[in-house]
Formats: sequence, C-alpha cells, structure tokens
Amino acid sequence: MHRIHNYHLADQSEWDVIIIGGGATGLGTALDAASRGLKTLLVEQSDFAKGTSSRSTKLVHGGVRYLAQGDIGLVKHALKERGLLAQNAPHLVHKEEFIIPCYDWFSIIKYFTGLTLYDWLAGKFSFGNSKYLSKQKTLNLMPGIKAEGLKGAISYFDGKFDDARLAVNIAQTATEQGATLINYMKVVRLLKQGDAVVGVETEDMITKASFKLNAKVVINATGVFVDEILQMNNPDAKKMVRPSQGVHIVLKKEFLNSESALMIPKTTDGRVLFAVPWHNHLLVGTTDTPLDEHSLEPRALKEETDFILNTAGAYFKIKPIEKDILSVFSGLRPLAAPTDANGNSTKEISRDHKLMISAKGLITITGGKWTTYRRMAEETIDLAIKHTGLASKACQTQNLKIHGVLMVDDDNYLNIYGSDRTNIEALAKQQPELQEKLHPDFPHIAAEVVWAIRNEMAETVEDILSRRLRILFIDAHAAIQMAPKVAKLLAKESGADQSWEQDQIEIFDTLANGYIYHAAKKETQAS
Ligand code: FAD
Repeated sequence: MHRIHNYHLADQSEWDVIIIGGGATGLGTALDAASRGLKTLLVEQSDFAKGTSSRSTKLVHGGVRYLAQGDIGLVKHALKERGLLAQNAPHLVHKEEFIIPCYDWFSIIKYFTGLTLYDWLAGKFSFGNSKYLSKQKTLNLMPGIKAEGLKGAISYFDGKFDDARLAVNIAQTATEQGATLINYMKVVRLLKQGDAVVGVETEDMITKASFKLNAKVVINATGVFVDEILQMNNPDAKKMVRPSQGVHIVLKKEFLNSESALMIPKTTDGRVLFAVPWHNHLLVGTTDTPLDEHSLEPRALKEETDFILNTAGAYFKIKPIEKDILSVFSGLRPLAAPTDANGNSTKEISRDHKLMISAKGLITITGGKWTTYRRMAEETIDLAIKHTGLASKACQTQNLKIHGVLMVDDDNYLNIYGSDRTNIEALAKQQPELQEKLHPDFPHIAAEVVWAIRNEMAETVEDILSRRLRILFIDAHAAIQMAPKVAKLLAKESGADQSWEQDQIEIFDTLANGYIYHAAKKETQAS
C-alpha cells in the first residue's frame, strides 16, 4: 500500500461512498463499505490516526466506568466488540490483567460485585473471571504500589492494543477489500446540487493539487472536526461536538514493575485513572478537560499533568515527578454534545456515538470509542445504503480478519506486525545495512522504516516515529535522536534531496518538543 499507487483519483467518475477522515471511525467505515462491494474512497487530511485515534488509553474495553454509571447497554455492546477485535486482530489486541488496589474492605466487596457483573455481561466473549487478591499476592504482582494500609485487590481482565498500528492495519485491510485510501488529502469544500451533497473538493496537502470527486454518499467521520464539514454544508449548522481533552504521560515501567495494569477506581474528579504497561514503558492517564477549541496537536495543561502525577503518586511507592515524564500527549474526545448544550462538565455528555443524516447525501458519525469502531461503521453503512438505495451486501466485518492476523507465541517485539514480521525480517536479511538499530535504547531497526514507507503509506519522519513506531509517544527525547536516521532513509527511498531531509528533521524536532514535559524541556536546554 503506497500513497502514489492509490493516486488515481482524477479518472474516477463516481464513487459510491467517499469517507472524510482516517481515524478509527473513518477507516472502519471504509472497510465496512469496501467489504460489501461498494466503490469506496477515504481521504485523510494528515496521516491515518493523526487525530484522537493515536492518543487513546490503549484499552479495548467495555468501560468499567460506564458500568458504574449504569450504562449497561453501552458496556455490553463494547464487550462484544472487544471479543471480536481480539478474534480478528490477535497480533494487536491482547488480554491484560487490571489490578484495583483496595485500602478498605467495603471497596473489595463493591469492586468484586461490579466486576463480576462486567464478566457476566461479556458472556461468551469473556476474557476471564475477576478475582480477589490477598495483600501479599497483590504486592507480588505489582511491587510498585503502596503497601501501607492495603487490604488486597480485585483483579479483572480487559483488552490492550496499539491504536495507531491497528489503524494502519485496518487501512491495509480496507485496501485489500478494494477501497482507495489516501492520506494528506484534505476536503476543503462539499460539492452540492441544490440542497444535496454530491461530492467533495479535495486538496493534496503535499502537491497542492486539487480534485473534484463525486459520490452517491459522503460520510463525515472527522472526529472533533465534524462541525467544520457540517458548516461547509450549512454555515449556520449547530455544533454537534464538544471536545474534551484527555492527557497521558509515559514513565519508565519500573514505577510499577509489573506485567499487569493498575486501575485507580476513583480520582478526585470522580473519574478513573489507568497505569498500563505499554511498549516496555508505563502509560498513565487520563484527564477530562472541556475545551472550546480543537486542533490536531492539542497540548496538555500543567494542571492536567499535575493531576496525573499526584493521583498516581498517591498509589505508587515512589511518587513520579515532572522530570520522570518521558513523553506527554493529549487527545480530544469527540463527545456528542447534548442538543441543549449548556452543561460545563463533559462527564455528563454521552460517550455513545451519534449518527445522523445531515443533508441529502451527507451522513455524519462521531463519538463512541475505538473499541466500538466496527459496530459504528456497520450502522453508518447500513444507514448509507438505506439513504441512497445503493445495492449492496449485508455487513461482512464481524469475522473479517484484520491485515497481519497471526497468533504468535514468542515475545519478539516485531510480533506487533503480525504476519508482516517475516517480511520485515526478510528485508533486513536481503539488505544487511537495514539491520542497523535506530537508537541504542530501543530494538527498532532501519528495515521497519523502509517497510513503513513502502507498505504503510508513511510519508514523513513524524508518520514513522509517531504512528508506525510509537517512539514519540513513548520517549520524546529518544524520538528526536532517531529523527536524522529516519529522515535519511525516507529521503533515500523517495529520491528527495538533502534540504528536504533537513526540513523533515527540523519539522519533527519542533513537533516533538511539544511532547517533552515543559519543565524537563527547560532543564534540557540549560544543560
Ligand atoms: P479521529 O481519530 O480524530 O479521526 C478524525 C480524522 O479526520 C482526523 O485524522 C482528521 O485529521 C481527519 N479530518 C478532519 N477534517 C478533515 C478534512 N477536512 N479532510 C480530511 N480529513 C479530515 N477508546 C477506546 O476504545 N479505548 C480507550 O482506551 C480510549 N481512550 C481514549 C483516551 C482519550 C484521551 C481519548 C481522547 C479518547 C479515547 N478513546 C478510547 C476514544 C477513541 O480514541 C475515539 O473514540 C476514536 O479514536 C475517535 O476516532 P475518530 O475516527 O472518530 O476521530
């Protein structure tokens, strides 16, 4: 899958479906549409999963918190989707044990009861039963948590994944099903005939070429950007989305020193906080901060990182401090705003998705969760078929395997590529110079970069270090150190000159500085 190979837009007369947005929702929708035999195009203004879909807590889950809020239907559907994802993408979705440490007996009873209900709701898609752990067992499994006053813990099972990697693999699956997907292609205008939307005008963000593309139905799957598309249709359209920012920090895994994840069940703002082992590090988050504006690179507020450090610090034996933060990133929840949007707390706003026909020929889908992307896509294409009368099959995705599907039993880090692992190894064998490591502290080799350029539509240093390899999200300083090697490989593969290579490094450094915690950044500059 290469961007240029997909680039035969100009000669297409009419698409059945054009999808705007290459996050979880749009990619899932492209896969659903193509697998039903529809002529499908997806355009993404940046890279796949550049938006919220690379910035999640990495949980494939029913949502224990929504259970506490009594949203049983939402949890049950999500648990089924969790099971389907584990079945269709076992190389990316893994079972994880979550530990809720309890410092009073009442909590033990309360969480055991709630999580037993959670297991029961999963039915045949259960990941395993919740159980009580004694104090000693808890500390054996998670030596990094505070022992003082600990009565024991409740352990339950949920799913963990790599969000941006799943996005890339869904994009590849959609391509294999016949869809055309193009990154760095932005919708700048909707084409209209009277009140009906009949296509889109796009601008290539790299070449600046523009295209007018017709479709029987246009699907707006742009996450927190949905209102911009809706306003292209009707400048007076009421806002559908209220963004809510969620921040994560990444620490060394030694803070918990555990294979299991920590779940802090009640924070001072009435939420939950997770500390999840992820790519040999510890991902801790998140927050829920209502915002009035949105962007592709939202920035964490100091009060959000303080909140995460303090909340985790109350449970960790060694309290993490600012200079321990290896990377900090934030994402925006495209929460569906209620029709009478006047509340300030986004916690009150629905976590379920919102699907609507916005105009003749324009469908909008937003909200929901990564976990439920498949079901959201199914509902969207069902509606599109009903709305346009397109001839098509029933949904095919319940048992459709995701690109790379493979069950593996060793713990090689390349397993995240699933069946592509052997291709990357073969590439490194053919060209031994590609066995070179990108950084002494990380296992990644040059062959992965070349693979991403040739097969995963990676166009920039950022695409590779942020979303193909996840280094920027794991350790921003290390990512900056890797950038020159990655830029060189990119320039060589694409035949670009040295000034392009230099520009790529500079652009990436500026971006990556935003992932370095502020106080730490000052220290680095001073030293
Ligand atoms: P996005 O991923 O934002 O995609 C929208 C895309 O549209 C963007 O890539 C954007 O560039 C593109 N776009 C916008 N305008 C245009 C245009 N004019 N032309 C072309 N393209 C355009 N869910 C879970 O299941 N598990 C979790 O653990 C979890 N954790 C989360 C933690 C946080 C902090 C947040 C914020 C969300 C979390 N979620 C989680 C929810 C999940 O991440 C989102 O529901 C999901 O990623 C939304 O995907 P999306 O495709 O709708 O939006």
